[in-house]
Amino acid sequence: RPRAELDSVDTVCPYCGVGCALTYHVDRERGAIAFAEGRDQPGSQSRLCVKGRYGWDYAASPQRLTVPLIRRESAYPKGPLSADVRGERAGRTANDRGRVDGGERSGGGRNGKGRKPGGLVDYDEVMPAFREATWDEALDLVATRLGEIHARGGPGAIAGFGSAKCSNEEAYLFQKLIRVGFGTNNVDHCTRLCHASSVAALFEGIGSGAVSTTYGDVLNADVAILTGSNATANHPVASSFFKQARRRGTKIIYIDPRAGTVADHADIHCQLKPGTDVAFYNAIMHEVIRLGLIDREFIAARTANYDALARTVADYPPERAATITGVDADTIREVARIWGRARAGVIYWGMGISQHTTGTDNARCLIALCAITGNVGRPGTGLHPLRGQNNVQGASDAGLIPMFYPDYQGVGRDSIREHFERAWGTTLDPNTGLTVTEIVGSILQPDGVRGMYMLGENPFLSDPNINKVRKALAALDFLVVQDIFLTETAEFADVILPASSYLEKDGTYTNTDRRVQLGRKVLDPPGQARVDWEIEQDIARRIGLDWNYSGPSEIFDEMVALMPSYANLSYANLGLSGKLYPNDDPEHSDGLVVMFDERFNTDDGLAHLVPAEWLPAKELPDVEYPLVLNTGRLLEHWHTGSMTRRSFALDAISPVAEVYMHPKDAVDRGLTHGERVRVRSRRGTIELALRVSHREQLGNVFIPFHFREAAANLLTIDEIDPFGKIPEFKFCAVQVEAL
Ligand code: SF4
Repeated sequence: RPRAELDSVDTVCPYCGVGCALTYHVDRERGAIAFAEGRDQPGSQSRLCVKGRYGWDYAASPQRLTVPLIRRESAYPKGPLSADVRGERAGRTANDRGRVDGGERSGGGRNGKGRKPGGLVDYDEVMPAFREATWDEALDLVATRLGEIHARGGPGAIAGFGSAKCSNEEAYLFQKLIRVGFGTNNVDHCTRLCHASSVAALFEGIGSGAVSTTYGDVLNADVAILTGSNATANHPVASSFFKQARRRGTKIIYIDPRAGTVADHADIHCQLKPGTDVAFYNAIMHEVIRLGLIDREFIAARTANYDALARTVADYPPERAATITGVDADTIREVARIWGRARAGVIYWGMGISQHTTGTDNARCLIALCAITGNVGRPGTGLHPLRGQNNVQGASDAGLIPMFYPDYQGVGRDSIREHFERAWGTTLDPNTGLTVTEIVGSILQPDGVRGMYMLGENPFLSDPNINKVRKALAALDFLVVQDIFLTETAEFADVILPASSYLEKDGTYTNTDRRVQLGRKVLDPPGQARVDWEIEQDIARRIGLDWNYSGPSEIFDEMVALMPSYANLSYANLGLSGKLYPNDDPEHSDGLVVMFDERFNTDDGLAHLVPAEWLPAKELPDVEYPLVLNTGRLLEHWHTGSMTRRSFALDAISPVAEVYMHPKDAVDRGLTHGERVRVRSRRGTIELALRVSHREQLGNVFIPFHFREAAANLLTIDEIDPFGKIPEFKFCAVQVEAL
């Protein structure tokens, strides 16, 4: 169909935190997207990666949930039903098949042209455990069962996982529903698995959990440190700015145990041993101080606790750090000199920093390094944790975390709680709620969480040590899952509510730069699937809340009234480019906003420097498990694969699970590229293909966590950081062997 006959809808990419602006060109006659293209906006400048350009056809998958489902009596006790765990299923007969397409879509358990991706839920196996229901029946059951559990076990028996894939308005309503409707702060989302430690350190250090600058600000920097981030795969368009900056003279220092493709575009790559970040950055600070390259004026006027920091890093001369990190002392000195002499330096980091039991300490070191060299509050300087999902920043801002109301206003502060009690017309729980990782543990306790509302999360694959997660999901008295596909987690549900993809609704999303953008409806939801905020509102009404929101705009207005950072934002003034917050000028603020140029957000306005001692990882390699496992993402796939593995182009490019290994480690084990191998840890075993790669460090292997059929999180350890409560996804001991 000629382009002129296509309808165009401006919206944002649903995948990573870069939040690229794009336009979908829609064939209305076919009711389908024809193609996507990048759209000009200060943050993404019409650029798109492969996911944004080709990763939208999952929304038209015949596997979409299109009708509410209720578990059949015969399908109890609960357990995972499909694929690799068939032995655990219960209560199914061969002829007991439910119709799941709502009569509007065909294909049942098959993806596209009869091909089913190997690792996704087997619909034919799972669907017979459920029967179709009306919306009224399903929602009544949700309200009744959660109400019973609340009455029996109190507020602490209920918990909710919200989603960073949903809009700001949906995240806001979800946390409000759990807090107001069930009287508990047990509400969290995937930020706990990606940057909770960064947020904890930033909040403690500078009083704000968000970034202090944009990724595009790298163009104003003399030097940029990119650490713990395979940005070319995980934040591809942001990474294009890093490459552009280097061409214009910015020095790029890449610090990461893996030689991701970012390393090809860096001036220096420090391939440190995993889990040694604190020792590395303490040594950099040691050298910066020794050489007198600190900003004494900034330290005196804008920071607190410098002397304690200086005493700690004095114990980390480069030679000591070299023995811990494996990076030679001269390179550590060179990095310190380059950073210390730069007019403007900026640090970007990813989950190689945050997903450790020392994640908060790692981030504390980055904050201290910026602060003692005066690299905050000017163009080309600052701190930027590259956020993972497209709306993980917005969902966190909206209060989808157990310790904060919207805008990081602490639930433990009486004045703040009273403010929200007045606004929401209720009495609120003064206690901090449980995090994602703590909720799983609580379910397995006798007096713990018994009922859960799960919106768009898939902990069955995304959480560490998933055998424990499986046990917890099966042990819940009641689980309602609201999603667009029958995810692995939904296999444990009592009720499944068919929701909308981002393509099927209006709402706002906030990217890693703090850019609030409008997402616009492109297609209608399939079958009886509904918009998420409407489902939340219907549940709220059924448990007695008088909610009558007319749409995202009204919800956004309520958020603005309660979130000082959103001052001057309005649904109507977001325009085509969105707006960065904080926003002093309602007419502009499309580009760079310099933050903390006069004071930080802490009570005293100072940056609080928190010294950290290096600690080894919790599970070290030994004779039986001699390799270190690192997990993460691929360019073509997204988290647990529920969307990208149903996208034809992305699945075609990257269809199989692989373990990445250094050539010498492969030779030592007699393994060859492409062969099937077994990877085992103390918690589980998986089988997958071997990819031999010079990009891996000797003694380390990498496995992406997208693939159910080789679930990386069967292997990972569920130890958590004591401050950010984030799991250790980047370090556990494994062995790899021939089948
Ligand atoms: Fe989407 Fe991120 Fe790729 Fe941009 S960089 S197109 S937001 S996945």
